[in-house]
Amino acid sequence: LLKVENISAGYGSLKVLDDVSLHLPKGQTLAVVGESGSGKSTLARVITGLLPPLEGAVSFDGKLLPVALKARTNDELRRVQMIYQMADTAMNPRQTVRDIVGRPLTFYYGLRGREKTERVKELLDQIEMGSGFVDRYPAELSGGQKQRVAIARALAAKPELILCDEPTSALDPLVAEGILRLLLKLQEETHVSYMFITHDIAIVRAIADSVAVMHRGKLVRFGPKSKVLSPPFDDYTDLLLKSVP
Ligand code: ATP
Ligand code: MG
Repeated sequence: LLKVENISAGYGSLKVLDDVSLHLPKGQTLAVVGESGSGKSTLARVITGLLPPLEGAVSFDGKLLPVALKARTNDELRRVQMIYQMADTAMNPRQTVRDIVGRPLTFYYGLRGREKTERVKELLDQIEMGSGFVDRYPAELSGGQKQRVAIARALAAKPELILCDEPTSALDPLVAEGILRLLLKLQEETHVSYMFITHDIAIVRAIADSVAVMHRGKLVRFGPKSKVLSPPFDDYTDLLLKSVP
């Protein structure tokens, strides 16, 4: 489904990604791990088109994706959605859940009015929050509820890939587990693929099919989970696995 080939990218004179190549089959989860600053979020930015790479290509479903966001068609934008560590990233505090979750419904599917509200309520049921939340503002939601709303907004587009940038690391462990369980349930229902950025090896064990290990902008390991999490290890993966409580 997703193929990243020989991507190099950076900010100004700072080179952050160096020749990164990986791929992700439909319906599977790729975990991306690596220490802070290794370039994980930058890779997500290249895939979503927020940061055009210096070199390399991203293709989706066998078709090259234009590197620049504004060169992508609505359909290309629709297919890749993103959720963040801070769930209210890109959420307008003056918009209600109806507006936030409804926006992709209008943008991609032309839904308005009552039809849109009904679909928002269905999505709220699907993320196990209940339709009673439609008129709430982000400030009136808990961290876990905000993350569920962000997931509902992503789902509203009917994406094929959701890039998850540490979506549970700001949540308490029980709430985080609920979000993970929800993401797994949604994958069963919709066959959506996830690229899941995390520092947490327990999450990798729980949800990943394949694992990419980044170190200082380079991909040091990539493959099926069982292979990446067994020896021989590179130094970074060794440290990461030893960090488990
Ligand atoms: P973390 O685990 O802490 O989220 P990360 O692996 O996601 O880290 P990135 O956010 O991709 O790391 O950052 C990689 C490098 O790029 C870092 O050195 C960072 O300082 C730099 N960087 C990130 N965003 C920008 C930006 N907008 N402008 C300039 N440099 C940036
Ligand atoms: Mg990051």
